[in-house]
Amino acid sequence: MDRVVLKDLNLEELKDFVTSIGLEPYRAKQIAQWIYKKRVSDFDSMTNISKATRKLLSEKAAIDVLKTVKVEESADGTRKYLFELPDGNRIESVFIPEKGWNTLCVSTQVGCPAGCKFCLTAKDGFTRSLTPAEIVDQYIQVQRDVGEERRISNVVFMGMGEPLLNFDNVKKAVEIMTHRDMLDLSKRKITISTVGIVPGIERMARELNRVKLAVSLHATTDEVREKIVPLNRKYPIGEIFRALRRYPADNVRRIMIEYVMLKDVNDSLEDARRLVGLVRGIPVKVNLIPFNPYPGSSFEPTPREKIEAFQKVLWDHNIAAFIRESRGQDISAACGMLRTKEKLSA
Ligand code: SAH
Repeated sequence: MDRVVLKDLNLEELKDFVTSIGLEPYRAKQIAQWIYKKRVSDFDSMTNISKATRKLLSEKAAIDVLKTVKVEESADGTRKYLFELPDGNRIESVFIPEKGWNTLCVSTQVGCPAGCKFCLTAKDGFTRSLTPAEIVDQYIQVQRDVGEERRISNVVFMGMGEPLLNFDNVKKAVEIMTHRDMLDLSKRKITISTVGIVPGIERMARELNRVKLAVSLHATTDEVREKIVPLNRKYPIGEIFRALRRYPADNVRRIMIEYVMLKDVNDSLEDARRLVGLVRGIPVKVNLIPFNPYPGSSFEPTPREKIEAFQKVLWDHNIAAFIRESRGQDISAACGMLRTKEKLSA
């Protein structure tokens, strides 16, 4: 019989599991404490549990699922992790130290099915979705590695994959990350980024509405967006904004609009003005992402002055717009650079 992977279970399910093997329900909280607060990797460390019970647990259940293959550190302190999954597939995660807090960027799939033309992850194709444990374990492995004094306070679902095409497992991972007896992160410090999967945005509104939503827009007309984000054919700009207008957001919980600046593709002042029109009446924050070029890419970054001019149009219309500083570029840890295969050229 395969062992049950405990990091796949929310607290309710963990209770069901411990009772199913004949233990008292309160053991679930104890085990959760060891796994999520003390971050142990084996049952023998669980010293308030009897030896016989520890033996039973180790026969029926497993704790860690990821193996660290490689860690690279950038000149700016960003750390990129290459992990191996139980089936041999590989994913990457990125630890981003910031002034006063630390962010972890997690992957949700091996590769990505979205196929955005400017994104390097897309070039690996799509293999499969990650399990809840494979998502949650990215947090635990990285937290163990950086040390408890550098507590990861924020999690962004912006690594490899499209989180809203793996909704159930992402939701479970968020439950584990935010439960006070588990990782105990604040929902407001978790951001899920989507290429614009409309049914997923609607489910987020209903089931995960305290979590922050980020939408990778990247264009202001369907004509341009279709060329760079193929899923726009299925979920065009109008449909996405219809869902965003209904999304429960306010000035504290603004929706983040991500916009990668591609030279002469989506970066005109006319685009900026169209963007103003699209977001009118929705509490948003716009993140302008400088394109990270890579060998063989058919896009070029917009020059800085032009990004600033684009940004000014937004500010002139009272729309909060920030230019996202690129982190970990020297170790290919920046937006859209994560890969399933180590050190592959484009
Ligand atoms: N699939 C989700 C989560 C990935 S988030 C989504 O699309 O939102 C990663 C972000 O980096 C996305 O906004 C993506 O469009 C952007 N990105 C991809 N390749 C990039 C590149 N080469 N330079 C800058 N940003 C890039």
